Amino acid sequence: MTQASVERTRRDFLFRCACGGAALATGLGLPCRSAHALGYDDKIEVRHYDKLPGQTIQCHVCPLHCMLADRETCFCRTRTNHGGVLYNHSYNSPCVLNVDPIEKTPLLHFLPGTKTLALGLAGCNLRCLYCQNWQVAQEQPVNTKNLKLTAADAVAQLQNKDLPTITFTYTEPVSYYEYALETAAAVRQSGRKAVMASAAFITVQPMKELCEQLHGMALALKGFTEEFYLKVCGVKFAPILKAIEAAKASGRWLELTTLVIPTYNDAPKDIREMARWIVKNLGPDVPLHFGRFVPEYKLRKLPQTPVATLEECRNIALGEGLRFVYISNVAPHDGNHTYCPGCKNVVIRRVGLRLLENNLKNGRCPKCQREIPGVWA
Ligand code: SF4
Ligand code: SF4
Repeated sequence: MTQASVERTRRDFLFRCACGGAALATGLGLPCRSAHALGYDDKIEVRHYDKLPGQTIQCHVCPLHCMLADRETCFCRTRTNHGGVLYNHSYNSPCVLNVDPIEKTPLLHFLPGTKTLALGLAGCNLRCLYCQNWQVAQEQPVNTKNLKLTAADAVAQLQNKDLPTITFTYTEPVSYYEYALETAAAVRQSGRKAVMASAAFITVQPMKELCEQLHGMALALKGFTEEFYLKVCGVKFAPILKAIEAAKASGRWLELTTLVIPTYNDAPKDIREMARWIVKNLGPDVPLHFGRFVPEYKLRKLPQTPVATLEECRNIALGEGLRFVYISNVAPHDGNHTYCPGCKNVVIRRVGLRLLENNLKNGRCPKCQREIPGVWA
């Protein structure tokens, strides 16, 4: 395709880094039971932490294992030590709430064409230089404009709007882990489904507990070197692979996303290594999305990712044996569709992330009957 044929409007810019990154909008057409002004603040005791002498605590939700003295707030900006008890203030208080296409998560093999209640709460335990939701992801919950939405409210919203899923996204669910866990459990109990988009910078046990309540997730594999993660995201890389492996082992539906940033994480050898790791450790059926970078936040001087670079990444990943490799943020593009790995027939056709036709019959290719992995009903 030519550069001129690339359509990239704000509306089309739906790909996100699996932990935020879509255009920010709050409460569009979906009023909560009661809206609160700036600083709505509820809290819940954190699940994974140790109480240490002298009212100090150590949190174990993410691999930073923060030690906090009394009154200190953590790196993710949501958890504060109150006299030796660790509370998370990103609780019952989404600062972003929308009804989105599920494809925006991005999940392309999960109830395609359906809508989801997508929400995010303030905070993040990463510091990505390209964060598109930095106004809320890099902020404390007390400083964002929040709505009140308890787990029961969320279930009621799903029922009232007849939505099959809730999605924890926009910021980073690890920063509001306790709320995500509680809400996902309530949604599961109600017979509906919860999914999340996350950077997967979380320790293994909390990840396992969250996966038990979720039905699917889009996890970011933002690059494939320690250097990239430290320089661009401000965290270590190795724990992320462990968390992704734990997610896969849980049996929940998993898709991976990589925002391809020119000169930062687009080296063909790194892309090849990433694809090999996925095939070896997660299997060839895990979909991988290569997203086009658009200058944002602290990386405004970089250019957009050339389409040719995304195509090269996709070809490398397909060549290494991955069966479902997508190109996002570029539309229309052949890399938007789902192809049967057997007969190469297009089984789901899209423009960008917008569903045009779903030809699957009971989760199978209509031409050769091959089963296509995913959650289709
Ligand atoms: S979740 Fe927050 S408090 Fe806990 S270790 Fe990570 S950054 Fe620190
Ligand atoms: S800083 Fe957090 S919310 Fe922003 S892109 Fe990184 S992981 Fe996502």
